[in-house]
Amino acid sequence: MKLGIIGGGQLGSLLCQAAKKLNIKTIVFCDDIDAPAQNFSDEFIFAKYNDKIKIKEFVSKVDVITFEFENIPYDTLNEMNKSKKVLPKPSVNRLIQHRLAEKDFINKLNIRTTRYVSIEKKSDLETLEDFFPGILKTTTMGYDGKGQYPINKMEDLNLLNIDFSKEYILEKIVKLKKEISVIITRFGNNSYEIYEPIENTHEEQILKYSQIPAQINEKIFNLSKEWATTIAEELKFVGTLCVEFFIDRNDNLYVNEIAPRVHNSGHLTINAYNVSQFENHIRAICSLEKIELKKLSNAKMVNLIGNQILPYRENLSLKQNEFFFDYLKREVKTKRKMGHITTLI
Ligand code: ADP
Ligand code: MG
Repeated sequence: MKLGIIGGGQLGSLLCQAAKKLNIKTIVFCDDIDAPAQNFSDEFIFAKYNDKIKIKEFVSKVDVITFEFENIPYDTLNEMNKSKKVLPKPSVNRLIQHRLAEKDFINKLNIRTTRYVSIEKKSDLETLEDFFPGILKTTTMGYDGKGQYPINKMEDLNLLNIDFSKEYILEKIVKLKKEISVIITRFGNNSYEIYEPIENTHEEQILKYSQIPAQINEKIFNLSKEWATTIAEELKFVGTLCVEFFIDRNDNLYVNEIAPRVHNSGHLTINAYNVSQFENHIRAICSLEKIELKKLSNAKMVNLIGNQILPYRENLSLKQNEFFFDYLKREVKTKRKMGHITTLI
């Protein structure tokens, strides 16, 4: 069996490692010549995501195709899907890569999101004081807080250099008490494995810490799992999916966004569970056996961002309950996720 993975970042790398454990060969297809996942895959194809010839070569070499990030052109996934199965299916990706379509979909399921409105031009914002303080987000291509502008009042807009040739969504700010995520792997109709909610802390809109158990009440524990299950079922999702949630100061739960893929907050599942989110994803998309999840330990994960990785690379004295992961990214950049440490607690 050969698995094709589109995208070559840390999620791709960790998928390759999980595949190896299952004796599945991997080919990574990525438009970054330095993609770190090539250190972990059996084969690497470097090409643009619309390179028809390279796409053909990739498809001919694999049995099933998946992806590690959302922002892949729909046409590319659709084209690949004509000859080899792409899982999760391309239509799921098209829906979720657009923040407006994603939020409309969630609300139709009677699941709460933040209040939001579509912004097509600057003047659309003038009558929307009600949404301030808010965050203006590009409808597509955003990640790790990129393409996001906090706006407290109209005057803020003049200070920001926003390119209104793009489409945006304006979201009302939720007064956050906490953020959590739920990771679920769907194998088929009403067949799931679901991880317990993970508590997440962001710094500058980038995930910094994740931990289980999340300090949340029982109602939120159950409701977040219920909503994640409803979403996965409604999408007829196959593979691992992550739902990010907000909890406000009155203990109201909101879905923030859906990641139709493995997720950074689930890195701790590698050490804290009998089956990681990565292995479960591969089991689901390759039609392998579903294994009942068992938590082995509570855990805490810390992302190493930018040069925070350096001391760990130089001086690796880890305790027995600590696990260090270096994504082997060639260049250390500020705000770039370089690695992580999971501690079993
Ligand atoms: P990305 O696609 O970059 O992950 P998110 O929409 O998840 O974008 O935003 C990143 C982080 O910014 C969130 O995890 C949260 O900490 C903060 N944030 C985003 N939107 C809101 C909001 N409406 N209210 C409060 N915090 C928000
Ligand atoms: Mg997010």
